[in-house]
Amino acid sequence: MGMSRDTQPVEAIIALGGNLGDVRKSFIGAREMLSVEPGISLLASSRLYRSAPMGPQDQADYLNAVVIIQCNLSALQLLHRMQAIELHFGRRRDGQRWGERTLDLDLIAYNDTQMQSPELTLPHPGMQERMFVLQPLCDIRPDWRHPITGKTAGEMLRQRIVAGEHPLGEGEIW
Ligand code: AMP
Repeated sequence: MGMSRDTQPVEAIIALGGNLGDVRKSFIGAREMLSVEPGISLLASSRLYRSAPMGPQDQADYLNAVVIIQCNLSALQLLHRMQAIELHFGRRRDGQRWGERTLDLDLIAYNDTQMQSPELTLPHPGMQERMFVLQPLCDIRPDWRHPITGKTAGEMLRQRIVAGEHPLGEGEIW
């Protein structure tokens, strides 16, 4: 299923989120750790956005961003590297769904791979509904096409805005 080290590099899209501690600093550190990881190079980085929390509202706003990397790790190897980086920045998995976190890294897409397993679903199943994924993705890859629906990131974002959803603010460089 996964791609091994001796195949062509793939492009992966990673979403960053967090609302505890100095999130901007964690994002900068996580991006740096990803880019120096053997077998990974950073291709693009979105602006940094602020969004209201999903689920429980008694928590701070989130910061969100998206990066695109080129990598020659398998999807699961990449996920495991991402989880190690989350842990490095103090992520606690306390079982609270949509609870506060210092750093959450989601694998949004791995080339056009479609897979569904308990450990990894690709593309990430929630991405189409999330302004905080679509809007940063549109900064850097509006033409990215969802391998199942065939819609581009730009189309998905526009549809949500036409349906009445509020875009996030400007976003900032980080
Ligand atoms: P969360 O705590 O919300 O970050 O969820 C993490 C769990 O979701 C981990 O156990 C992962 O194995 C699983 N998972 C499934 N698909 C994905 C994905 N595309 N990106 C990140 N985690 C995923």
